Amino acid sequence: MSGQRAVIVGSGFGGSVSALRLAEKGYAVTVLEQGPRFERGDFPKTTWDVRRFFWVPQLGFRGPFRMSFFRHVTILSGVGVGGGSLVYANTLPEPPDAFYGQGSWAGLADWKAELAPHYATAKRMLGATRRPDSAAGVTDEVLGEIAADMGRSEHYGATDVAVYFGEPGKRVPDPFFDGDGPDRVGCTLCGSCMTGCRIGAKNTLDRNYLWLAEKRGARILADTRVSAVRRRDAGYRVEAEGPDGPLVLEADLVVLSAGVLGTTELLLRMKADPGGLPALSGTVGRQVRTNSEALLGVVTDGSRDLTRGVAIGSILHTDAHSHIEPVRYGPGSGLFRLMALPHAPGDRLRKRLGASLRSAAARPGAFVRSLVVRDWSKATAILLYMRTVDGTLRFRLGAAGLATSPDTGALPTASIPEASALAERFAEKLGGFPVSMFTETLAAIPSTAHILGGACIGATAEDGVIGVDHQVHGYPGLYVCDGSAVSANPGVNPSLTITAMAERAMAGVPHATGGATGAAHEGMERTATPTR
Ligand SMILES: Cc1cc2nc3c(=O)[nH]c(=O)nc-3n(C[C@H](O)[C@H](O)[C@H](O)COP(=O)(O)OP(=O)(O)OC[C@H]3O[C@@H](n4cnc5c(N)ncnc54)[C@H](O)[C@@H]3O)c2cc1C
Ligand code: SF4
Repeated sequence: MSGQRAVIVGSGFGGSVSALRLAEKGYAVTVLEQGPRFERGDFPKTTWDVRRFFWVPQLGFRGPFRMSFFRHVTILSGVGVGGGSLVYANTLPEPPDAFYGQGSWAGLADWKAELAPHYATAKRMLGATRRPDSAAGVTDEVLGEIAADMGRSEHYGATDVAVYFGEPGKRVPDPFFDGDGPDRVGCTLCGSCMTGCRIGAKNTLDRNYLWLAEKRGARILADTRVSAVRRRDAGYRVEAEGPDGPLVLEADLVVLSAGVLGTTELLLRMKADPGGLPALSGTVGRQVRTNSEALLGVVTDGSRDLTRGVAIGSILHTDAHSHIEPVRYGPGSGLFRLMALPHAPGDRLRKRLGASLRSAAARPGAFVRSLVVRDWSKATAILLYMRTVDGTLRFRLGAAGLATSPDTGALPTASIPEASALAERFAEKLGGFPVSMFTETLAAIPSTAHILGGACIGATAEDGVIGVDHQVHGYPGLYVCDGSAVSANPGVNPSLTITAMAERAMAGVPHATGGATGAAHEGMERTATPTR
């Protein structure tokens, strides 16, 4: 008797949790990931190595960092075995209580109580560690001063980060899983977490969940992009394009974990296809939200090195709904200077351009230095401001893939007065000049690294794409476990929450029946031209 087969689409946070937990439950697990597998030396030394940094496969750029430009938002995300963990800033905060009672999942479970043990597991698995005092960088100290100025020192602190803080540069046997995981190297505080850790200190998913999943028989097919998931008899047929051509896999259970961009597009395409998943909820692509964040920069004269530390080393809760984190890139990673313009909030272009000119005229010295400073990343504090305020977008299929339109509430905005005021405080303390992405200054389009929703939880298909168990309404055995299942705005960096939600969902999946994992892998797929 052959065993049960599970296919997981995407290898980010949701996909990695699913791979390990389903392998432990006896499924023959195959993970399909569109991006490559990266070794430490594959990551770029700086952002200027665009071929190794950016994911633009059409141009032959096969790096881990992707930028997607839409009418209402610019989305930053990760690609490759490990998904967003490859380029994320390692920060793992828990959301405030308000998160559990908002959005389409409100009232369907006691989410706070149910998720609590899974947050604990997620922290342990991701290797969450409080950033030591000795690892505080200049901008962490400046944030502490700002907290004191605001009378909010008790709301300021070090972040919990997925980093191994052993002796800098020293390799040790796995310190997280009693030797079952890979070696780690002590963090050197090089600040390069968001271009990929070349040291071996960052707990990316290929060093925890995926590593352990592979040890338990899961296999990961990199460079393999899924193009369709179709209902077939009691299971599903997954069609993909791999390095050797088209691939078709039959599965008893499928987990969609392709991140919001991947999962939402796949679901929208399959809903529109009579041979796909036509009975999907009409809410697919709806309730897409950001963390309502603002990303700003403060460029200084470079006299103090702002790169030393981990990517995000401190956090200040500025009120009950908002917080700010200073972010850093490593030395030499100044490519984003090409995309920066003077920070100028406002609802109209003319207003923003006027504010931009006034800002430059008010401090010409700082403005000119921001343009000519030699090592931009050493001189620049990036500020990530987030809040729980909600407003959602909708993804639809456009002529060139996904397109956004407004959904409910206020649109995400690049103009948040509190964020601008905090940037001014930083600029004052550091003697710097505030900047934003050109898309924000010119077109008022906000940027987000925290896109969520699109396949939200609802009691029925009228209210959401998936049920409380993460199974797609109308499609038993088809699950969504990634950022697209997050059904309210956590107001904080979301990876810990995505991980905890995936842990909870996978805990509810029954154990596999039938034969051994290895036997079930045999004959699972065939290379073929996908048919409808
Ligand atoms: C620069 C940056 C910094 C960040 N910092 C933090 C932070 O400090 N803390 C935090 O909590 N979050 C952070 N984030 C956000 C975090 O990375 C994401 O929220 C998280 O990775 C989302 O997890 P996921 O499971 O939804 O999917 P992802 O991690 O996005 O993974 C999805 C995977 O699916 C793959 N995929 C997509 N489509 C297909 C397809 N059709 N076929 C096969 N594979 C496919 C993708 O290549 C990707 O590898 C950051 C993000 C960025 C970009
Ligand atoms: S600071 Fe450097 S060594 Fe430490 S985790 Fe980040 S990239 Fe790795």
